[in-house]
Amino acid sequence: MSRLHGKLAVVTGGNSGIGFAIAQRFAAEGAAVTITGRRQAALDTAVAAIGRGVTAVQGDVTSEPDLDRLAAAVQAQGRKLDILVVNSGVAEPAALGEIEPAHFDRILDTNTRAALFTVQKLLPLMGEGSAIVLVGSIAGFIGTPGFTAYNASKAAIRSFARTWARELAPRGIRVNTLSPGPIETPIFDTANDEFREMIRQMVPMGRFGRPEETAAAALFLASDDSSFVTGAELCVDGGAAQG
Ligand code: NDP
Repeated sequence: MSRLHGKLAVVTGGNSGIGFAIAQRFAAEGAAVTITGRRQAALDTAVAAIGRGVTAVQGDVTSEPDLDRLAAAVQAQGRKLDILVVNSGVAEPAALGEIEPAHFDRILDTNTRAALFTVQKLLPLMGEGSAIVLVGSIAGFIGTPGFTAYNASKAAIRSFARTWARELAPRGIRVNTLSPGPIETPIFDTANDEFREMIRQMVPMGRFGRPEETAAAALFLASDDSSFVTGAELCVDGGAAQG
């Protein structure tokens, strides 16, 4: 249980769902983890639940000053940043005919633009042997109906990872995408039973995944176990992307 001993990690959106499970697993594996999110109360709850090895920096990933504050807080720890998990994201449905510009901008700003600038702000703190894990979604390539903006926002994440994998390989930094299928988290809180059943039926394994199952995959991509893996996409989806 110490595959990340001595490592420094940042997990954005670490106060809920998948990000929380990843932060919890990384801390259990010996990493010092900084989690982020907008809701201070949820950050406090997450820090209390994880206990040793975790700190929180409140902020909005779409805000440049907040990203600067995050980078300063990480830099103040006086060590190289070994692992960055870009996980924060939002999902809202809108049928094609009903998409408002503000909806499209909100989803793309949070899921895509902020992913780019989070990496850009924290990259100077990373070096040889560091790993970046971008949380995408199988929705980025299967095209979940009613989620045009979300699907597009996650398709861009795959593209980022492939581009940056090539760009950063000479510096010894790996970049991979973790693409979950349906995972039981608060992101589904507003989904009705009919939608949940439609989603469940898309999964050959016939169930939603658990956040811990994505955390195990994140651990692989973040640790030296994947030392020759970059530009890859690991789907944790019960087979959903297969058909
Ligand atoms: P949650 O809603 O549980 O978590 C979303 C996280 O993102 C929260 O920690 C939230 O914190 C944070 N967040 C959202 N917007 C912002 C913002 N503007 N600034 C800072 N933090 C923000 O959902 P999940 O755990 O399910 O989602 C995590 C990631 O996994 C997302 O990128 C999602 O798209 C992806 N994913 C999820 C799937 C699923 O089935 N659950 C499937 C495929 C991908 P706060 O609200 O405090 O800001």
